[in-house]
Amino acid sequence: MAQTRVLVIGGGLAGLSASMRLAELGATVDLVSLVPVKRSHSVCAQGGINSVNALTRQQGDNEWKHFDDTVYGGDFLQHQPPVKEMADWGPRIIDLMDRLGVPFNRTPEGFRDQRRFGGTLYKRTAFAGATTGQQLLYALDEQVRRYEVEGRVKKWEFWDFLAPVLDSSGRCRGAVCQDLVSMKFKAFPADAVILASGGCGLVYGRSTMSMVCTGSAVSRAYQAGAAYGNGEFIQVHPTAIPGADKLRLMSESARGEGGRVWVPRKPQDPRNPRDIPEADRYYFLEERYPKYGNLVPRDIATREIFDICTTDGLSVEKDRLCVYLDLSHLPREMLDRKLGGILEIYEKFQGVDPRVVPMKIFPAVHYSMGGLWVDYERSATGGMEEGSVRNQQTTIPGLYAIGECDYQYHGANRLGANSLLSCIFSGLFVAPSVAGPAAAGRAGEDASRLFESALRRQEERHEALLARRGGNENPYALHQELGNLMTRVATVVRRNEQLAAAYDEVCTMEERWQRCSLSDTGNWTNQNVVFTKALGDMFPVAKLILKGALLRDECRGAHYKPAFAMPGIAATDPAGKRREAEAWCDRFEENTRKWLKSTIARHGADGHPEISYEDIDTSLIPPRPRLYGLVGGDVIEEVWKERSRTAAEDVPASAGLAAGAHA
Ligand SMILES: Cc1cc2nc3c(=O)[nH]c(=O)nc-3n(C[C@H](O)[C@H](O)[C@H](O)COP(=O)(O)OP(=O)(O)OC[C@H]3O[C@@H](n4cnc5c(N)ncnc54)[C@H](O)[C@@H]3O)c2cc1C
Repeated sequence: MAQTRVLVIGGGLAGLSASMRLAELGATVDLVSLVPVKRSHSVCAQGGINSVNALTRQQGDNEWKHFDDTVYGGDFLQHQPPVKEMADWGPRIIDLMDRLGVPFNRTPEGFRDQRRFGGTLYKRTAFAGATTGQQLLYALDEQVRRYEVEGRVKKWEFWDFLAPVLDSSGRCRGAVCQDLVSMKFKAFPADAVILASGGCGLVYGRSTMSMVCTGSAVSRAYQAGAAYGNGEFIQVHPTAIPGADKLRLMSESARGEGGRVWVPRKPQDPRNPRDIPEADRYYFLEERYPKYGNLVPRDIATREIFDICTTDGLSVEKDRLCVYLDLSHLPREMLDRKLGGILEIYEKFQGVDPRVVPMKIFPAVHYSMGGLWVDYERSATGGMEEGSVRNQQTTIPGLYAIGECDYQYHGANRLGANSLLSCIFSGLFVAPSVAGPAAAGRAGEDASRLFESALRRQEERHEALLARRGGNENPYALHQELGNLMTRVATVVRRNEQLAAAYDEVCTMEERWQRCSLSDTGNWTNQNVVFTKALGDMFPVAKLILKGALLRDECRGAHYKPAFAMPGIAATDPAGKRREAEAWCDRFEENTRKWLKSTIARHGADGHPEISYEDIDTSLIPPRPRLYGLVGGDVIEEVWKERSRTAAEDVPASAGLAAGAHA
């Protein structure tokens, strides 16, 4: 029987877990990566990976609650069956990684230690100090090496994915990639291609992401016809060290271990923070959200930090926006054991010991909830049907997407420590979908002419770029302009007039890109041409982010437009509060009817994104207001609960789960 041949693009957690499982199932894998797989961006992940565990179960936790926290955290913008399936797999994934040798932190009794992360009240996060991503990545890399030795996996490190190869029926038959050392091109025939190419942070210039997170691979798939979902949902992490070159994350685990966010009550109080007494400190997250405190989900924490600095004028410094993230009250031994990795980063780049002096932090672009649209098949139990060829498949048959580059799991806002889980889960879960008999043998079909012409197209494009002369645009300066613009208009606060103007500016920049000339025109390890190509592919992604944001006239998760914000309760008397809460819930229901849908972007023939919308399967957990115990929000919760009770009584007893869009 013909063996299935799979091309995996990306060797982060998603790509490695898929490669491992594919090899285990007997497929042959070509694994292509821009960087050595152990340098993939996943290596930077710090705080941990989520799953229900023995400790939280004793407190009443279960898989359903993890599922519920994830969709509530994501503001209900994700199809629920895949999320349910992921939460169900959580405990098995942690056990698997434990068995593969990940040195998770342990309690003195030898159990896996757990910490709390944002958007949940349970300690669900398993961690290996503050270098969890590195430990997970290295463990998976070891497994993949085992299959490499057996000849099931072949790694192509320092190779760039340039385009999928589609046949006349529109099916993906492989891809064209380029060796970044010799600059030679090669076509990779495959029964299936899996993109595991991570996020697109570089579209914003500076972010917490690695410098290879350009989104180029995803953009190339999008330009070849794959639909992109929820592009406008970009996560801005609340706590990072501002830097001129890049923004360095101070993981949520700092707050998970007891770190507190505060500002002096007096604007720009000149005292040393250690000399500012408790009474003069404003722990604004704890005061406004007593239930979740410093661990409200990221979209909320980010907006509050942004607001306290910009609207309330309480930034710690006058000329630079920042607030304190304080660990100085916690025992040094515990900090070193659990957070050593990130404390070293702060010390190295700021020259200050965060065990003693509160850190100065500010929000930074961090993660892309949106990504390539992928399909799934719903199972009878409301999860995903294992082995279905539809799972994780993009709109191009035979082309799959997993990990941060798909749009499937995190809706409008990702909960911390859920990404590592979704990466490993989608990697393991996609394997039986593409390694099955349905796919095998296609790579062997004669498509040589198809590959020859695809190869020639890329060679010609490359030669044309090298041959450009006299252009007056510098690709690095143009990238900086793009990043500054995107950061200014499409991060924490968004306004329609700015988004519309920025869209036009990006179109102009895209035209200017045609006039970029290269400082290196050689054909040996030419990073200049590789970057320039990646920059060209950032514009289509920037445009779909801006267009999606412009059209979405509401506030949901990370997408916040003040013009469409729902005001809180202003009345102080009980009757007035009740009236306002009823009106608030009416508006919430109307907004849900209008906007609870995914943005789907398709690359139009004219280069502009064509936007449509997709209904969301919310048949397992009905949407509800997302207040996280906000002080003053209790009356809204009360009204909402009453409405839900009435609605439940009205549902006929025979009504089962509604079939989802993907059933
Ligand atoms: C600083 C930081 C800390 C984080 N900490 C956590 C955490 O504690 N918990 C959590 O859940 N999440 C965390 N995240 C998020 C998480 O790390 C990422 O979402 C996740 O690691 C992405 O994994 P991935 O496998 O999808 O992609 P990546 O790890 O980004 O891998 C992408 C792969 O694709 C390859 N690639 C890209 N483009 C091309 C191309 N054109 N051609 C060929 N190959 C290509 C790259 O070489 C790489 O191998 C953190 C993120 C950051 C920025």
